[in-house]
Order: sequence, then structure tokens, then C-alpha cells
Amino acid sequence: MKNHLFDGLLKTPPRERQFAEIPGAKNAPARYYSYQDVHDVSGKFANLLVSWGVEAGDRVAVQIPKSIEAVMLYLACVRTGAVFLPLNTAYTANEVDYFLANAGASLFICDPEKRDGLVDVAKENNARLETMGVYTKPDVFAGSLLDEGLDLDTTFENIPREADDLAAILYTSGTTGRSKGAMLTHDNLLSNSQALAGLWQFTKDDVLLHALPIYHTHGLFVATNVAMLSGASLILLGGFNTDAVIEHLPKSTSLMGVPTFYTRLLDDERFNRDLVSHMRLFVSGSAPLLAETHIEFEERTGHRVLERYGMTETNMNTSNPFDGERRAGTVGFPLPGVSLRICDAVTGEEVGKQAIGIIEVKGPNVFPGYWKMPEKTAEEFRDDGFFITGDLGKIDADGYVQIVGREKDLIISGGFNIYPKEIELLLDDQDGILESAVIGVPHKDFGEGVVGVVVANSGASVDTEKLLAIIKPLIARFKQPKHIFVLNELPRNAMGKVQKNALREQFNNVFDCS
Ligand code: AMP
Repeated sequence: MKNHLFDGLLKTPPRERQFAEIPGAKNAPARYYSYQDVHDVSGKFANLLVSWGVEAGDRVAVQIPKSIEAVMLYLACVRTGAVFLPLNTAYTANEVDYFLANAGASLFICDPEKRDGLVDVAKENNARLETMGVYTKPDVFAGSLLDEGLDLDTTFENIPREADDLAAILYTSGTTGRSKGAMLTHDNLLSNSQALAGLWQFTKDDVLLHALPIYHTHGLFVATNVAMLSGASLILLGGFNTDAVIEHLPKSTSLMGVPTFYTRLLDDERFNRDLVSHMRLFVSGSAPLLAETHIEFEERTGHRVLERYGMTETNMNTSNPFDGERRAGTVGFPLPGVSLRICDAVTGEEVGKQAIGIIEVKGPNVFPGYWKMPEKTAEEFRDDGFFITGDLGKIDADGYVQIVGREKDLIISGGFNIYPKEIELLLDDQDGILESAVIGVPHKDFGEGVVGVVVANSGASVDTEKLLAIIKPLIARFKQPKHIFVLNELPRNAMGKVQKNALREQFNNVFDCS
């Protein structure tokens, strides 16, 4: 009997092949994991989970620091048929409370250093509390999971799981309302990694430099699943750190990152052609990569970043081609097996060629729904099975998909629809501007008024009055920002996404609405 995801991911890699290198901290030697270790250590953890009472279908919530053993824990959950539920390490006890309650988690594994603050929350939710930290040496305690698990038997008979069984629940970042638990099946994850590994031509010779967090779909599923499926190796960093990435790029072949990785690398003069001569692929996603970054990256390194688009609920939907033109400012074409269409938000009808609308997707990558939220699920699916992503986009004349923004960021001023991206691109183009964000905030006459927020290039200063005057003749009056503010940086989350809700809050009272 098969365990759809585990068997699918680990069918091919020979056991002796290297799976991961974990660079040593502070001159300690690096550690290495083979694919045999992947079987052995995940088997030990699976035995431990079962001894703790975990059964197929149980939700195992984890809020733990990044480590290779944490990846093994994910696999152990898959092997026991449990549902893996990773939580952002930044969440507070109050937020964790909601996730444990909503998911009905029976086991919660947290960072040993945060255990004291989470005991009550676990107890109130009837979840068993265990801990997992970062392994350093055999005799140093790093949580109960490593302490008890590493001594157990490596043999574990996988619990059979079918394609449609749940493998994970990932909560959406929930910038509006409460966060929703996206249910992901074994085949959502397996089929998506198969599509990506094929498209991006991953092989056993690849070494993927892994600097993303592993509580999010990008670092957890895209990166680790694609590597396992192709028998490739990982160099697993604790997080993004320019020095560490620069140190390890020369022996890597690929990097998956959010746009901030690339802007930070470009800010460092050590980042040049020689450093990346061993690399074959740089992937970007989770937030828009500025066309300017794309161009600067190519000039500096000779590589064109490959931008792709996905979300927690759908895994990856589109990608620029590996061999064909990687077009800046676009997210490429739908992945094999994925259908994508652009529809009118109100009527649900497909819009005409190159018109802007909501992106809808359907395919084996798309989740079956939100955990215990049938109404929300029903609201976000069309009758014919397409999922309404909430992203606004269009398809250009050559079939490349372009993202114009989130529907909830759309500004409606005086009855007109304003796509922030159009104004942001214009602001970004002006001298002295590094980047910008355009938002709508309450306005007495217009409903919403347009506000621009810009960040200056280092060393540059921005005269906002002049800036307003420059863009005035370039766009229709209703789209023109009524005010422009300068910030030192835009508020971003760990995945590099600009937090427009934070900006809307900050500038909420710009117009007198009394
Ligand atoms: P998450 O569920 O946290 O992965 O966020 C998914 C959202 O990130 C999508 O709905 C998009 O709004 C955004 N996103 C992901 N990839 C891209 C991209 N390449 N360009 C622009 N936005 C993106």
C-alpha cells in the first residue's frame, strides 16, 4: 500500500546520495545528510509521533526554528498519515491559540526556548506540547523530539495514503480577517513538484541553496519537494544572510528566493559573474520582482531570473519558461496541467484579450478548500471548479501572465477602478526613486483617495511636490496620487511582500473625512 506523497518524492534518489549539507555555525564543521538519513531519521520521528498517540488525519502543529531535522519532521508526519501544520515563527501565543483551536491540533511542537509562554495555550486546546530546537551536538538538549526521537528504530511502516488525503494545512497570512487554513492533499504537493522539477530541469546534479523559511509554501514545498523528487542536494541555511549566501553560491547550482534576496545581493559588490559561474538557475516568487531588478541582475551576472507565481492555496500556478524568453514583469505561462483564465470580478465572465480581471485557476495543484470553512471555500470557487485567486492580472499578446495587484488593493476612487501597479511603475521610473507603493485611503468625496509612498535611492532625496508635478501630465487625473510620502523602507513580511494594510493604517487619516 502506498503513501502517495512520501513514495512519490523519494522513489528515485539512491540512498547513498547526499541530500543536505548544513553549514557549521561559528567554525563548527558542516553536517551532511544522505537520502538514507532522510528515510532513517524521518522513520525515527514517525515512530516517536505514533508513540505520542498521533494517528492518521491528526493535525500536528509546529512552530519551530528552521533545521534539516524540521524537514524530517514534515516527512515523518506524511509517513504517519498526519496533517502537517507549520506556523510562522513570528506568531505570538495569542495567535497560536487561534491556530490550535481552529485546526483542533492534537500535538503542538514548539521551540524549547518559547515553551514556557506556550504551555497554557497548548493546555487550553488539549494539545500535547513537545519541543524541537536546532541540533548542535549529540549531548546538547535541543528539545524532546530530538532527545527522544533520535534513539528510536529507523524502521517505520508508512501509513497508506491516497492522492486526495490531506498532507498539510497551511494558514494564509490573513491580512484581511482571520487567517484561513488551506488544506493541501498529497497530490496537490506531489503533482506540483513534479511539474516544477520537470519544467526547471532539476536533476540529481543540482545543489539548491536553501535560504527561505520552511513554514511557508515556497521554502517548505517548492524548494524541498523539488529537490527530493529530483535526487538533488540542498545547502540548508538558517535564513537569508547575504554573507552566507555569497559564501555558498560558488558550489550551488540554483537558488529560490523572494525579490528581496535579489535586491540584497545586488547591493553587494562581491555578487558578480565569477561568483555565480556554477549556477544554472535563479527563481523568484512570492512577491513581484521589479523589472529594474531583473535587468540589473542580468547585467551583473549574465543570468535572467526566472519568475514564477503561486500561492498557499494553489501551490505554483505559472512560471516563466526555462528555455524560452523569461520576460521581466511577467510570471510566465500556466504550468503543465494548470488551466488559468482571467475573469470579471462581478459577472465571473472571462474578459477579452489583454483585459485586466481576476486570475482563476484549476488543476491538480489547487487545494480542495479551507479547513472547517465551507462557506469561505464555496465563495472562492466557481461552479466549474476554478479557484478565484483574488489576484488581478492579464495575459499579454504572447500568452505571458502579468500580475497587476491584489483585488483587495484595487483602489476605487470616484467610481473609477485604479490599479496601483500602473502608478507604482510610473513612480519607480522617476529619478531618485527606488520603489513605491500606491494605496487607497478613505476620502470624503471620492470614497477612496490615491496616496503614493516612495522610498528614495540611497543618497538621493525626493521632492514630493516636484514628483507630483512630473507625473501629472503622464496619467489621468483620477489616478494621480493626491499626496506622496517618503519612507525609509516599505513595510514587508518575511516573504518580501509589501504590507499594504500597514500602509493603509498609517495613512488612514490623510484626507479629512470628518
Ligand atoms: P502566499 O499565499 O503567502 O504564497 O501569497 C500568495 C500571493 O503572493 C499571491 O496571491 C500573489 O498576490 C503574490 N505573489 C506570489 N508570487 C508572485 C509574483 N511572482 N509576482 C507577484 N505577486 C506574487
